[in-house]
Amino acid sequence: MAVNQEQYKNISKELIDRKVTLVAVSKTKPPEDILELYELGHRDFGENYVQELVDKYEQLPKDIRWHFIGHLQSNKVKYLAPFVYLVHGVDSFSLLKEINKKGSKAGRVIPVLLQVHIAMEETKFGLDANELGEVLHSSELTDLKHIKINGLMGMASFTEDLTLIRKEFLYLKTLYDQYASLRLENVSFTTLSMGMSSDYKIAVEEGSTMVRIGSLLFGARDYVK
Ligand SMILES: *Cc1c(COP(=O)(O)O)cnc(C)c1O
Repeated sequence: MAVNQEQYKNISKELIDRKVTLVAVSKTKPPEDILELYELGHRDFGENYVQELVDKYEQLPKDIRWHFIGHLQSNKVKYLAPFVYLVHGVDSFSLLKEINKKGSKAGRVIPVLLQVHIAMEETKFGLDANELGEVLHSSELTDLKHIKINGLMGMASFTEDLTLIRKEFLYLKTLYDQYASLRLENVSFTTLSMGMSSDYKIAVEEGSTMVRIGSLLFGARDYVK
């Protein structure tokens, strides 16, 4: 299916004016769709599945910035470590250590965001506020020379209740601000990744610096294929 170029132009303009980065979420979409936005100058693309991301990385121009926005399993880190631009969904200290290890092997410092659980659904991943504090204050954290924690990521509840969504984003922004002054060699907050097709406007109003938008740009996804 064709990319909605008109929509892309409108959204990018809206976001550029507010200094918010647009990650175009291309999961399940073919490389041709990605190239269509690439040719309009877009470089930040997000994927949820490791194998799919690696396949697309191999086929597409090397100056694309690949964001991994899914739930990353430790045994798959090695496939992304050589090239991933930003890992959004880190939700445990052990995963952080594994990314550090594979970053070291790849001779890189890998930028990551810690995922915070802000939604009602239990099925969504992420740290709670206490666990986030534990990770960021861990005495072991400074040993991890091959990761860099750039900020936080979260997903609001899947609901029509816009007041609840706003409250969840506000909560995440509050946590973000709480740690924004924390300066370690490998911690320096610059990025708050929140907002998707259905709620990005609210997220931006609540202080998002990076939104992850799929269906508005690429059309609805077909998972059956
Ligand atoms: C799929 C996905 C998105 C994009 O969703 P849309 O509703 O299509 O914009 C954003 N973030 C994450 C983590 C996703 O899995």
